[in-house]
Amino acid sequence: MIKFDRLRKQMVQKQIEARGITDANVLDAMNKVPRHMFVSEALQDQAYSDYPLPIGEQQTISQPYIVAEMTQALRLAKDDRILEIGTGSGYQAAILAQIVFRVYTIERIYNLYSRARKLFDNLGYHNIVTRYSDGTMGWKDERPFDAIIVTAGAPEIPDTLVHQLAIGGRMVIPVGDQYTQDLLKLVRTPKGITKSNLGGCRFVKLVGEFGWDPN
Ligand code: SAH
Repeated sequence: MIKFDRLRKQMVQKQIEARGITDANVLDAMNKVPRHMFVSEALQDQAYSDYPLPIGEQQTISQPYIVAEMTQALRLAKDDRILEIGTGSGYQAAILAQIVFRVYTIERIYNLYSRARKLFDNLGYHNIVTRYSDGTMGWKDERPFDAIIVTAGAPEIPDTLVHQLAIGGRMVIPVGDQYTQDLLKLVRTPKGITKSNLGGCRFVKLVGEFGWDPN
């Protein structure tokens, strides 16, 4: 346990702070969430390393820095309503759950969905609401959201998600082909959508009605 605490502190200093992440809530969350609990036992020693790791079902837990960058870009306030598409290991949702009162997260692979749900319960993340479905459809009953984070690479921005953003709402989403994407940030203003490019990234595919085909 003590070993992981030390590795986590080093991760935050060398990978997150050193690369310019300054949001105190993000740094605090990354210092708290036990990332090693979100990977298989065999990979726990690598959980705080500077790269993504496999989580089964051909999916990955994102590199720590990208989690920090996306979270900071959302400019979260405590009472924001946030939707995550792509629960995966549950790590990103847990980071969000340290910062806001309640997190909504959707996963399309049943095994990952149910594993994350159990982990949230075991670790005491009672403010994470999980759902097993196609996240490209959003979560209509819970809209509008102040923030939407898509943690899988989309061929284009799903309109369904844009429509579920509140005025003033922010969305981060990787958009591109199956190998590389640009991390886009959208803000919904009263006049329309503003878009900025945060840089290149590489995510697994967003699969669904408004994403890639499953095959
Ligand atoms: N945020 C995750 C990253 C997981 S990788 C973490 O912290 O570990 C991306 C995840 O998105 C995968 O688990 C994949 O199954 C899921 N995914 C892909 N398309 C999806 C969709 N349409 N709806 C919900 N989840 C999706």
